[in-house]
Amino acid sequence: KLLRREKEEAMRRSDALEKNGLEALRRVSRQEYLKKREQKKLEELRDDIEDEQYLFDGVKLNEAEYLELRYKKEIYELVKKRSEDADNTSEYRMPEAYDQEGGVNQEKRFSVALQRYRDATAAGKMNPLAEQEAWEEHQIGKATLTFASKNKKQISGDHQFVFEDQIDFIKASVMDGENTIDDEESTEREKSTAALEEERKTLPIYPYRDELLKAVHDHQILIIVGETGSGKTTQIPQYLHEAGYTMRGKVGCTQPRRVAAMSVAARVSQEMGVKLGHEVGYSIRFEDCTSEKTLVKYMTDGMLLREFLGDPELASYSVVMVDEAHERTLSTDILFGLVKDIARFRLDLKLLITSATLDAEKFSDYFDSAPIFKIPGRRYPVDIHYTKAPEADYLDAAIVSVLQIHATKPCGDILVFFTGQEEIETAEEILKHRTRGLGTKIADLIICPIYANLPTELQAKIFEPTPEGARKVVLATNIAETSLTIDGIKYVIDPGFCKMKSYNPRIGMESLLVAPISKASANQRAGRSGRTGPGKCFRLYTAYSYHNELEDNTLPEIQRTNLASVVLTLKSLGINDLLNFDFMDGPPCEALLKALELLFALGALNKLGELTKVGRRMAEFPLDPMLSKMIVASEKYECSDEIISIAAMLSIGNSIFYCPKEKRVHAYNARMNFHTGNVGDHIALLKVYNSWKETNYSTQWCYENYIQVRKMKRARDVRDQLEGLLKRVEIEVTSSPNVEAIKKAITSGFFPHSARLQKNGCYRTVKHPQIVHIHPSSGLAQVIPTPRWVLYHELALTTKEYMRQVTELKPKWLLEIAPHYYQLKD
Ligand code: ADP
Ligand code: MG
Repeated sequence: KLLRREKEEAMRRSDALEKNGLEALRRVSRQEYLKKREQKKLEELRDDIEDEQYLFDGVKLNEAEYLELRYKKEIYELVKKRSEDADNTSEYRMPEAYDQEGGVNQEKRFSVALQRYRDATAAGKMNPLAEQEAWEEHQIGKATLTFASKNKKQISGDHQFVFEDQIDFIKASVMDGENTIDDEESTEREKSTAALEEERKTLPIYPYRDELLKAVHDHQILIIVGETGSGKTTQIPQYLHEAGYTMRGKVGCTQPRRVAAMSVAARVSQEMGVKLGHEVGYSIRFEDCTSEKTLVKYMTDGMLLREFLGDPELASYSVVMVDEAHERTLSTDILFGLVKDIARFRLDLKLLITSATLDAEKFSDYFDSAPIFKIPGRRYPVDIHYTKAPEADYLDAAIVSVLQIHATKPCGDILVFFTGQEEIETAEEILKHRTRGLGTKIADLIICPIYANLPTELQAKIFEPTPEGARKVVLATNIAETSLTIDGIKYVIDPGFCKMKSYNPRIGMESLLVAPISKASANQRAGRSGRTGPGKCFRLYTAYSYHNELEDNTLPEIQRTNLASVVLTLKSLGINDLLNFDFMDGPPCEALLKALELLFALGALNKLGELTKVGRRMAEFPLDPMLSKMIVASEKYECSDEIISIAAMLSIGNSIFYCPKEKRVHAYNARMNFHTGNVGDHIALLKVYNSWKETNYSTQWCYENYIQVRKMKRARDVRDQLEGLLKRVEIEVTSSPNVEAIKKAITSGFFPHSARLQKNGCYRTVKHPQIVHIHPSSGLAQVIPTPRWVLYHELALTTKEYMRQVTELKPKWLLEIAPHYYQLKD
């Protein structure tokens, strides 16, 4: 018996080794190491208390008590010191979400934020809350040495780490689970297919498998509602496959988020025991992981929308499942209209609309009274706690709460909701910093971030079972609200914010900003803690805020976004009468008109609103219409080679350069090297790409130039695909050394984004006058004399209205390229 066990153990280790490489081994030995260290530490303590008579702050204790207290005190001092260190350096920055405009009334932070959000949507006011931009700016500040003084940011004293009594929570209510179960479930997990098979049978959806299949058989359209984690996304497509639906076409399942599509596909391929990309695959923008063999395909809703372009009847599918319908993303809403339409003449196509919340009637009504299939939930009760008073800094409050739970509450993993990557990275750093050197009296805290841009290898980490004695804390964006289910979460920390798009149709300005979540979201978030046992949710806002300041539901994206891209897609599908398109909730008329106006200006539509040849070509590119136009126009200026590099660099986001604190001067100089001759940011991006290419895509080169190699690789992937698409629209790849030609091609797409220097040194946008500034990260920010005319890629709205990615422009180009848009004033 013993021998067998030993052998099994050895096999498990070698399995783990194979799977996780050296990491697994390291983890084992690290734990051993820590155990030894603790022993040693205790021995040392015992040695030097001999003559202290077990006195602790004047109280006489027995040895055990004394040791315990002494050790705790040591840890406490350590943590305190570390958090003070953290406060005293300018290394970290909390998103100054509320204090940017000098002391917003903390009592009303939600109403204030909400009001700002509404303002931004309605009147084009700028968003002071976009924490990402502020962060970047802060980084740049450090880079340029202009603001090199110590960071003034202070964390108020009451947020310092103390073991007891950090943030006062009040337990307000217990959110009852349906079919409340009290016993704890085992979360032990082996990754073999056989074990996964057993696990599949434990999911709440399993007992309804046959009933569900019958309902799908009997009805063409079915609305399916079930608690998050019940197995809708991972199981239903497999059931359909098992029942033979994949014999006459693919089963397609859409997800609003890239990460969800990838991770769910990975999971399902594991469960089915096949290689990802073979029978089970996924498709997201610029990344297709499917093959001829693929039967079950997960994809973003945006990708399915694009598939309509090549396959207007979705002939290759036997089932389409629009998952996470409650999220109401723009693409999902448009898909509703399109799939409803094709279901009318493709009677063999099955349509499943799945949703986590219970407003299924609305979906049913829209789909001609389609039947609703409810998967009875299984949820444990969740205690809801609110803060007594509003928290000034939710990031700090969240971190303190994590540590508080970690130090005082029984085992169970923690899930914290943040608004974006930067916030998560900041939180991760601070948590690491504060838990370092805590010793082993406090269990290991495994920190797992998850957000859309996280490299795929790291994404899987959140699903790894937590080792015994340790605790996992998942720092997630909204993605963990309903799209991803992480087992073992017992505590949820909800700061109450998320990033949201807002659009002002009057001036055609779009921005991403931090806004309060809705009550529906808050309840979804809380529910995440009650999946595998009774849970607790800590809301970092007051009960008053919840009841009086949060909206009931989130506004569907279609009502708060720029529609140009969607309108172009619809037009290229031959849907001309957009005003009468079957929207579930129609977009604001103004936004629709604005989109038509822009597409007309770009030459994608003619005066009758019909698609032109240019428009058809533009629609082939999965990009914003202005970028697509820039690419299509590069044919004329014979510089498509350069333009697709620029487009690829623009699409990968703004943080290509990084700036380590201790090397900011070097990093700044490295960055400015690409700006020699004040070429403007677009050309600088091109230079970055080309220089990297010249070094044969060297990683070393990236390090030397403080460039994120991961981003560059992504840019290369995007560029490769754009090159493929150029061929498809029959544009030759031609290279031009002529900078003016390249700039003209850019202008052909971005002429609506022009701005002119004012006497006071600010800029004013030309078409819909707005005062704007050059973003400090721009190579043109410190150029003298300041360029008189510029063109920008986008507006970033923080404390000021910033133009990001700026290039100097000659005004005569505007007249030459867009005479229908700009005229000379006499
Ligand atoms: P639903 O769609 O109803 O919210 P899912 O099908 O996403 O539910 O999840 C069912 C189960 O599968 C959950 O227990 C979840 O933890 C597990 N699961 C889903 N994706 C993964 C993954 N990538 N790795 C490990 N487990 C996963
Ligand atoms: Mg799901």
